[in-house]
Amino acid sequence: MTIPSPRTALLVYAHPEPTSFAAALRERAEHELTRAGWTVEVSDLYADGFNPVAGPGDFTAPSDPRRLHVQREQSHAASRGTLAPDLLREVERLERADLLVFLTPLWWFGLPAILKGWVDRVFVFGRVYGNGLTFETGPLRGKQAMLALTTGGPESSYSEGGAHGELDVLLHSVHHGMFRFTGMDALDPFVAWGAGWADDATRTAYLDAFGKRLAALASTDSEAA
Ligand code: FAD
Repeated sequence: MTIPSPRTALLVYAHPEPTSFAAALRERAEHELTRAGWTVEVSDLYADGFNPVAGPGDFTAPSDPRRLHVQREQSHAASRGTLAPDLLREVERLERADLLVFLTPLWWFGLPAILKGWVDRVFVFGRVYGNGLTFETGPLRGKQAMLALTTGGPESSYSEGGAHGELDVLLHSVHHGMFRFTGMDALDPFVAWGAGWADDATRTAYLDAFGKRLAALASTDSEAA
């Protein structure tokens, strides 16, 4: 009998308030995945003081100290092991993970700046994508990725004909431009609609549904391993 190796999840949590509903989703994710035997790592971007701004400090030995070309320096640093330590820690967490989950509110129809900046810096050209390695040949192929999202607006406003347009369209840059582009399998998002104004029963139902979704994912994935 083959014993499946433990699976690892990376939860990237982007909310400045530790008692937020997004934090409750993160706790539920940690609980369910740990219970299923997974190793769970958490990047708590605000609490960790993660720097989301790409810049010369990302590289300890730049190839051209006179002029910054971000992708060229990412590639140079990836091949020589000269990524800044905070960046390398996140890249290694990402590479260890079988499942990546972004736990975040929807801000301005997209990701909060700190999480977008995590992608800008951690999706390193020459290591996470690039040099012809994207989509089916992307270095992150075999991994799954998922958005766990809270919104202010109700589901009806993100439906066809709704005031904000379809959520799938808004999330294309994440699902296609980040997850699939680097080779990952983009799972359907989990959305807690109107989390800020929902009543307690609705919020409890969201937490339970999210827990069940992750438990099912963890058991399916373990069987496949
Ligand atoms: P919170 O306000 O932190 O929490 C909601 C409630 O849940 C609180 O009462 C909290 O006490 C409670 N709670 C916490 N833990 C639990 C628990 N375990 N069980 C039950 N209840 C619990 N919305 C949009 O739809 N589209 C946008 O484009 C958009 N842009 C925004 C831009 C900015 C800059 C900001 C600040 C907000 C924006 N919003 C937008 C609104 C935002 O998406 C919502 O306010 C947010 O998603 C709500 O989730 P939260 O985690 O912040 O909720």
